[in-house]
Amino acid sequence: MGQQAKGAGIGFVRVTGSNSCNVLMIYPKFMADSFWNFSEACELVGARYPAIPLGLITVAAMLPESWNVRLVNRNTEDLTESDLAWADMVMTGGMLFQQADSLELIDMCRKRGLPVVVGGPDVSSSPHRYATANFRVVGEAEGILHEFITAWDAGQREGLFESPKFQVDVTKTPIPRFDLLKFEQYLYIGVQYSRGCPFTCEFCDIIELYGRAPRTKTHAQMLAELDALHALGYRGHVDFVDDNLIGNKKSIKAFLPVLENWIKERDYPFEFTTEASLNLADDGELLHMLRRSNFFAIFVGIESPDEETLAAARKKQNTRRSISESVHKIYKAGMSVTAGFIVGFDTEKGSVAQPMIDLIEESNIPIAMVGLLYALPNTQLTRRLAREGRLHFDHDSAPAGKGDQCTAGVNFETTRSRLDILRDYRKVLERIYDPDAFCGRIERLAAMLDCSDRRKELPEGDIRGRVSTIKLVHELMSRLPEGRERFWKAFTTCMKINPNSVRGIVTLMAFYLHVGPYSRYVMKQIDRQIEDLEAGRFVPPKLLPPTAPVEPERIAVNA
Ligand code: SF4
Repeated sequence: MGQQAKGAGIGFVRVTGSNSCNVLMIYPKFMADSFWNFSEACELVGARYPAIPLGLITVAAMLPESWNVRLVNRNTEDLTESDLAWADMVMTGGMLFQQADSLELIDMCRKRGLPVVVGGPDVSSSPHRYATANFRVVGEAEGILHEFITAWDAGQREGLFESPKFQVDVTKTPIPRFDLLKFEQYLYIGVQYSRGCPFTCEFCDIIELYGRAPRTKTHAQMLAELDALHALGYRGHVDFVDDNLIGNKKSIKAFLPVLENWIKERDYPFEFTTEASLNLADDGELLHMLRRSNFFAIFVGIESPDEETLAAARKKQNTRRSISESVHKIYKAGMSVTAGFIVGFDTEKGSVAQPMIDLIEESNIPIAMVGLLYALPNTQLTRRLAREGRLHFDHDSAPAGKGDQCTAGVNFETTRSRLDILRDYRKVLERIYDPDAFCGRIERLAAMLDCSDRRKELPEGDIRGRVSTIKLVHELMSRLPEGRERFWKAFTTCMKINPNSVRGIVTLMAFYLHVGPYSRYVMKQIDRQIEDLEAGRFVPPKLLPPTAPVEPERIAVNA
C-alpha cells in the first residue's frame, strides 16, 4: 500500500463462524427512459445493459463464506419465483433512478415475509425513503456490514446500520465477486480504484457520500481484481468507475506505470475508460500515462459554457481556460471525450442554448449528455434550495415512469423562467443531435484523435468482436432511423483521414442509435411541458417550507 492509501480508517472485517444463509442480490431496474441505457448500442453486439452492478458484487464478497449468494440484475434478466423461493434474505438498492423499482422490490419481499436489506447511494442519501425495508445499510458497506451480519445471526430482523462517513479503508475491500456476473450481458465491466473527489461542485453528491480526500486501493489489490477478471476469461472494455480517477494525481501517477506493465505482459486484454476532471488536460505526463495504459475514452463534466455559472456552481476547475482547447488536448493524447452539460442554473443570464451548442461543436464532442439541473438529495445545492424555500416537496422521490434528469429535472423553483430553461434545453438537443451536426463532430474528432499507437484488433474473446467493424457499420446503417447517407459519408471520411480511429468512431456512431431517437423522445416530453406552461396549465409543485440557515455551509467534510 504505502504510496496510495491513507489507510488509517475502518477496514472491512470478515465475520467468520456465521450460520448458512441464502442471499438473493437483486439489482433494481433503472428508469426505462434514460440517456444512459444505450439499449440499441447494446443490442448491436448482443449485450443487454451497459454496466455491471459493481456495488452489489463488492458487498457479495464481504459476506461470510458460509453464505450462498445469487445475483439477479433486473436490467438484464427476469426475477423468477424460484429465485425468491430459494432466498432467506434479499439484498437490494442502488441509485436515485432505481428508487421506484427498489421500493417495489421491498414491497414484494415484505408481502412474502422475505427479509429485505437495502443499501447503496440513494439509501445513504435518503434513508427515510426506504423505511419499509427490514434493514437499511447507510454509507459504505465495509464500515458496518459486520454489525449487520452479527445482528442477523443473533436473530434480529429489523435495523438501521450506519457506516461512519469517509472512514472506510478501501485497501481492505475484497475483490468483487465477478464470478456472479454473466459477462456476455454487459457492454463493459466496471472496477473501482478510488472513492472521493477533491473538488466542490455544488450539485454533486459524490463528495457528500465519499468525501473530498480520495481514498485509493493498493496496486497489488487493483491488479488482483484485474487478474480475477482475466482468469475468468473476460476480455475487452473495462471502465474505472471512479467519479474522478485523477482526484489524487500522485496516487494515479504511481499506479499507471504498474497498470501499463500488467496489460503489456498479457498482450493488452483490456481497454479502459474512466471519468476525470477537465484539469487532466493540463497534465501532459498524466495524459501520456493514460494513453500508454490503454485508456481510450474519458467522461468529463463540463456542465456550462458560462464562466460565471461555473464559478457559482463551484466548478472552478473548468474556469479560466478554453474548454474546447482542453478537450482537444485529450484527443491529441488518443482518447475521445464524452461530456456532461447542464441547463437550468440560477446564474444563466438569458439564453444559454447557443453558447452551449457552440461549445459542443467547437469541442467536437459527439456524445454530449445534456440534462436539466436536478437537485440531488444530499448536496450543497439541495441544502441551499431548501434554505431558500425553493425545493419541490417530492424532490427526492423518483416514481416509476417519471424519467431522469432529462425529462424530470428542475425539481425546484427556478430563478430564470422555467419556460426559457425548457426552450433552451430543447434547442440544444435539437441542434446537437441533428444527424449532420453529429456526423460533423465525428469527422472533426477523427481528424484530431491521435490513434497512431492504438491496436486495430480487439483482444480475442472481446464481446465487441462478435461483429466485425464492417458488419457493424452495415448493421448500423440499416438500423439508423435517419441520415444514413450522412453517416456513411462520415464513416468513409474517417476511414480516409484516420483509419486507426475507425473502431472507436464506429462505436460512437452506434451510440447514436440510442441518443438520436432518445433526444427526439426527450424533446417531445419537453414540448408537452412547454405547451402546459404556455397554456397556463402548469401547476407549480408544492414547495417544502424553508429550512433554518446553517452557516457556514457544510462542504464535504474530510477535505
Ligand atoms: S469534479 Fe465531478 S466528482 Fe468531483 S465534485 Fe465535481 S462533479 Fe463531483
